[in-house]
Amino acid sequence: MRTKHSDNRNKPGPKKPGKFVRMSKKGYIMQIQPFSVNDGEGIRTNIFMAGCPLRCRWCSNPEGFTQKELIGWYSRKCIGCGACASVCSQGIGIDMTERDICIACGACVKACPEEARVRMVSLMDADDVISEVMKHRLFYSYSGGGVTFSGGEATSQPEFLDYVSRELYDSGISIDIETCGYFDFDLVRPALERMDLIFMDLKHMNPEIHRKYTGVSNELVLENISRLNSLSLPDHGSPEVVIRIPVIGGVNNSEENIAASAAFVYDALPDAKMELLPYHTFGKIKYEAIGMPFDQDCFYTPDREEMKKLRDVAAAQGPEIVDFR
Ligand code: SF4
Ligand code: SF4
Repeated sequence: MRTKHSDNRNKPGPKKPGKFVRMSKKGYIMQIQPFSVNDGEGIRTNIFMAGCPLRCRWCSNPEGFTQKELIGWYSRKCIGCGACASVCSQGIGIDMTERDICIACGACVKACPEEARVRMVSLMDADDVISEVMKHRLFYSYSGGGVTFSGGEATSQPEFLDYVSRELYDSGISIDIETCGYFDFDLVRPALERMDLIFMDLKHMNPEIHRKYTGVSNELVLENISRLNSLSLPDHGSPEVVIRIPVIGGVNNSEENIAASAAFVYDALPDAKMELLPYHTFGKIKYEAIGMPFDQDCFYTPDREEMKKLRDVAAAQGPEIVDFR
């Protein structure tokens, strides 16, 4: 079952003074992905922004851990022609074992005939990002879609997020955000208030287990979830909220944890919906591309039956369970 957005979707909203100076910004972008249908209503363009403050051990987007330009190498596409090495001013070889001295000039990306060398993170001007997503504006109008800020972590570049979200909002584009929930709420509030829909993660109710697997305690995440019901703009209303649990077999998939998570959400935000998403290993190839070890053998993907059971456990606590995937 899918959620319904506010009636204000794709209508121009009021201009609201924000915290940041209205000027162009540059941001670290992992990918601009058009025609996405999994992260909000209708056909959307996802802007994946680099720089996550968490280190979830099951992460499928490791290129988004830091904010720096990053070149990757997909060995499976490589034909060993050597064009990349021949243009590299740093003397980096085909397999990029010397990747630490890469200056991300992009010469190898241009030279590679097989798209085996790729930009995993690019520094982009905000206005270029806006121009790119506006190319698909017609699809947003016809499908009830828009733009979704994702990551990495979109809130880790608050000025860039503020600028781009304001420009899109003022242009009448529906905007959603997907966030890990670990951010300075007051700093990000102006951008959050422009959203039609906020997806926020809740990974574990136990602060120590949360820290063990993500690198940080869950206290700020829980506090930020509780503060979501304070968001509101005149003529726009409040964003819808979907709290997402990435269900990681072996970490947070106990019925006890799922029930406690759903009870917390229902108590803090009675109108919020919840979505439970099973762990996957689609990001493994990215670890290879950027030369990071893939250390996720201790996790497993819950099967359909287990996911259904856990969704029922969550629903029994009160929240409506939705499924965007
Ligand atoms: S991006 Fe530039 S420095 Fe880095 S490997 Fe490619 S050619 Fe060499
Ligand atoms: S240019 Fe591309 S295909 Fe050729 S060796 Fe380099 S990565 Fe492989």
